[in-house]
Amino acid sequence: MIIGLTGGIGSGKSSAANFFSAHNVLVLEADELAKEAITKGTDGFMQVVDCFGESILNESGEIDRDLMRERIFSDHTMKSKLESIIHPLVGNKILEKIAESISLYTVVEVPLIFETNSMNNYDRILVIDCYKSFQLERSTRRDKNSQELIQKIIDSQCTREERLSIANDVIANNGSLEELKHKIKETHYFYTELIKHD
Ligand code: ADP
Repeated sequence: MIIGLTGGIGSGKSSAANFFSAHNVLVLEADELAKEAITKGTDGFMQVVDCFGESILNESGEIDRDLMRERIFSDHTMKSKLESIIHPLVGNKILEKIAESISLYTVVEVPLIFETNSMNNYDRILVIDCYKSFQLERSTRRDKNSQELIQKIIDSQCTREERLSIANDVIANNGSLEELKHKIKETHYFYTELIKHD
């Protein structure tokens, strides 16, 4: 069973992921896998260069991820082309890592799951949800960024309602970290039971 763990910036995804790890659950980061999938010399790299042209490369001959983000921001066709390259590669990487692991189930931390329409990569979607005021306060403190910048990032992400609409499971992270830890423990037991009775 593959769980897509998602939530807006500062909602508590990484904290939740760490609490799952403490139960010996395999935790992967979709962003890291996507980066790996298009590093120089891989099949993914070749496909992206075919799609965007060599102007997408930086001075070291690697894919310039900022430039790539810029290019797809204003071009929906390129965005879906890129997604059709990256999603299957990330899907394969997840399966490879699972094959090497003895974990009962796998949690994949995915910041943008609604936005990238990648729901189908996962058996269940777990949303970490919190009030916007907490998102702002926690992210500002963690990243030492201005509230304006964090607000811009929140505005660029899907709404809480959109995110909740794709959730199988929701954890509200409006209390202490200790409470979040306890909720993850309960969710871990729930997933373990689901697998046993499947
Ligand atoms: P995300 O990965 O979703 O961006 P993080 O897990 O990094 O969010 O959490 C953002 C910041 O808020 C971190 O510094 C984290 O330690 C803190 N944090 C998360 N949940 C809580 C909570 N329930 N109470 C207090 N601080 C929290």
